[in-house]
Amino acid sequence: MEEIKSASEKIAGSLSSGRCPVCAMLRQDEFDILCEWVGKSDDKYNGSNFRDRLLASNGFCNYHFWEFERISSHYGSARVASGLLEQLIRTLRTGKRENLAVALKERGPTGASRCPLCFDLEQKEIGYLRELEMMLREDMYKTMYLEGCGLCIPHFIKFLDYARNDSVVEFLFQSENSQTDKIRASAMNFISKRAPHRRGEQTEDEKKSYFRAIEKLVGRRGV
Ligand SMILES: [Zn+2]
Ligand SMILES: [Zn+2]
Repeated sequence: MEEIKSASEKIAGSLSSGRCPVCAMLRQDEFDILCEWVGKSDDKYNGSNFRDRLLASNGFCNYHFWEFERISSHYGSARVASGLLEQLIRTLRTGKRENLAVALKERGPTGASRCPLCFDLEQKEIGYLRELEMMLREDMYKTMYLEGCGLCIPHFIKFLDYARNDSVVEFLFQSENSQTDKIRASAMNFISKRAPHRRGEQTEDEKKSYFRAIEKLVGRRGV
């Protein structure tokens, strides 16, 4: 019960983030989990459950490995990568091309060994969408939601998979319509005030409109 309460509080807070609420929460989660992985790249975690999980997953996906590298120390990156290289060398030593092909295919997004970060974020995403659906049955949260930017299109589509309440779906379609309209209007105003002497007239919403417009269409970076 405690956990459910904190999840709804977290979601309520993200509704006024000026972005897709689910994207905003996942971005923070991604950074927190990445930091945890960076912390576990120390020597003392060799052979830990964390590192075993990474080996079993054949490492992170391309996007998360480079994100990991961005905030990790060079030694931490070298340590984590060398464990994975050791595993790769064992596969290469079998000298069988098909073993290598299977191993590489398993690393892919749909392969048996998923990127652990992608996996954890997916689990969180499902939890957020389910919780949001429950929250949007209440008028108080509907009002808060409507004032924000609304879900990005990828999350809007996923939300529909979890929506069990027809009036919530109807509400979502209507709000998506008005929120998208608002972002488009802001972007158009932003462009119309592009002349140097008019830039001072640009509102905060208009200055953020290009980012919001792209996030509305495709979701946060790395989705
Ligand atoms: Zn989103
Ligand atoms: Zn990943």
